[in-house]
Amino acid sequence: MNNSSTELDMEIGAAIDTSGLKQIRRRRLYFFATVIIYMPLMLIANQISPTLRCMAITFSVWVLLLFAVTMYLALARCPVCGQYFHMRGMSFLPVRRCMHCQLHINDDKAK
Ligand SMILES: [Zn+2]
Repeated sequence: MNNSSTELDMEIGAAIDTSGLKQIRRRRLYFFATVIIYMPLMLIANQISPTLRCMAITFSVWVLLLFAVTMYLALARCPVCGQYFHMRGMSFLPVRRCMHCQLHINDDKAK
């Protein structure tokens, strides 16, 4: 029994570290949710108080939130190569592959 569990551990070790990709997927979810929430958020703000002041405050809060989630996503590191998953130099692209080693975001699900 001890021997078979060691073999299983080695198999898991040989596969890609899944916890890293899971974390990147979660950060991507936060990012895209923040982008999508913009329109309903502004509509709700307009319903509550259609003043320029209220809209400006809502917009500012959204921009700050977007900045925070973008930084959170941009600083996610690839579990295989250790580089920033969505950053190459100064360019940030929320694509589905690592910008350095081409690791796909769902590569841990395929195995
Ligand atoms: Zn990588």
